[in-house]
Amino acid sequence: MKCIFCQIVAGEIPADILYQDEEAMVFRDINPQAPKHLLIVPKSHISSVAELNKEQMALVGHLVWVANEQAKREGIAQSGYRLVINCGAEAGQEVSHVHLHLLGGRSLGKMG
Ligand code: 5GP
Ligand code: ZN
Repeated sequence: MKCIFCQIVAGEIPADILYQDEEAMVFRDINPQAPKHLLIVPKSHISSVAELNKEQMALVGHLVWVANEQAKREGIAQSGYRLVINCGAEAGQEVSHVHLHLLGGRSLGKMG
């Protein structure tokens, strides 16, 4: 059984997809925590950032680049935004497929 984000990547369940390339896909979070809340995911299944090996770190860089581009397209590049990667239970990671949260469009306060 594919994970929920692999199903979105495969087009098996719908999502509000904003961008994709060979390695990454961007769609809106189904339960947004800010006016702008996008998820940037690798197309390949990797369960968490803790699973990434050194060779795969370029992929993380690509995800950050994609996030920055999307921040510009969403009009929050100037006002500011937050990129978050949750890893593991105490960080509240719910979906076991690497994803970057891009949050913006309001004052986000300090990290808790
Ligand atoms: P995590 O807590 O794992 O860092 O974040 C998972 C995120 O995925 C949550 O913000 C949640 O709202 C979002 N999410 C969970 N299921 C779906 C889905 O089916 N579609 C979309 N677009 N977002 C989802
Ligand atoms: Zn997956």
